[in-house]
Amino acid sequence: MFFKTIDFSKYSSIKVGQPTEVLMIEKADKIPTDRYLIGGANNLLVSPNPPPLMMLSKDFAYIEQKETILVIGAAMPTGRIVSYAKKHDISGFEFCSKLPGTLGGMLAMNAGVKEYEIFNILHSIEIDGEWILKKNIEHGYRFAKLSGIATAAKFKVLEGFSQNLLDTLINLRSNQPHSPSAGSAFKNPKGNHAGRLIEEVGLKGVKKGSMQWSNVHANFLVNLGGGTFEEAKFLIDLAKEKVLAKFGITLQEEVKIL
Ligand SMILES: Cc1cc2nc3c(=O)[nH]c(=O)nc-3n(C[C@H](O)[C@H](O)[C@H](O)COP(=O)(O)OP(=O)(O)OC[C@H]3O[C@@H](n4cnc5c(N)ncnc54)[C@H](O)[C@@H]3O)c2cc1C
Repeated sequence: MFFKTIDFSKYSSIKVGQPTEVLMIEKADKIPTDRYLIGGANNLLVSPNPPPLMMLSKDFAYIEQKETILVIGAAMPTGRIVSYAKKHDISGFEFCSKLPGTLGGMLAMNAGVKEYEIFNILHSIEIDGEWILKKNIEHGYRFAKLSGIATAAKFKVLEGFSQNLLDTLINLRSNQPHSPSAGSAFKNPKGNHAGRLIEEVGLKGVKKGSMQWSNVHANFLVNLGGGTFEEAKFLIDLAKEKVLAKFGITLQEEVKIL
């Protein structure tokens, strides 16, 4: 293992944070239990005082096909997984296109788009050197209860990459803001849309400093340039407060605040 300085104002998708020492884990290392693991930082909001951090090194960025099983390392970026699936005519990973992150982040978040979620196509996850079957992992909408750090996952190979599905899913993203964000700030409450609730309490387009509830999609907290953690946290707390007061609904963050 070795330390690397990562500047979260550049590395994180929301471009908030500061240079921070991150412990890089290599294949032969025993994974520490006293550090928070980050993936591609596409779902993170890093405070000025984050917990000690670690990250899987490129040793964990691989794809191996063993007959009808695909073994993918947890540090593998989603874009490269989609390219592999396309090249080898494999179905199931189309939804990972434009869903920025690593496989590990997808597993921990049960990331997905519409009815497509990573757990739908998952076979098992490697944690602490043991393969755990999907049926033994509690999971649901944007959550999975992993018993440790995922180092790899297995998927059954199904034939037939669908360019059509990929194009349809990419089209769905046309209403997403282009400014830096961490994706959806809140999970959708059952039977409702966080974006609609934020809009109905009058926060769509509202700014604090350089952070803003996007006027393109209200559940996206966007950074207009140089936004800070404090500004982001202010808007998150404000939305929770207003939605609770008006609708009696407690919004739950999807973005992980460190
Ligand atoms: C523009 C944009 C659009 C997005 N659209 C979507 C969308 O449509 N659907 C969706 O679901 N998400 C979406 N997201 C959020 C993000 O893409 C996903 O949550 C993604 O899975 C995050 O992966 P990551 O590697 O960046 O994880 P990080 O943000 O680094 O971490 C997220 C969580 O995963 C955990 N984690 C990471 N790796 C591991 C591992 N190996 N083992 C255990 N835990 C791990 C971290 O501890 C953390 O709790 C979007 C984000 C952006 C910026």
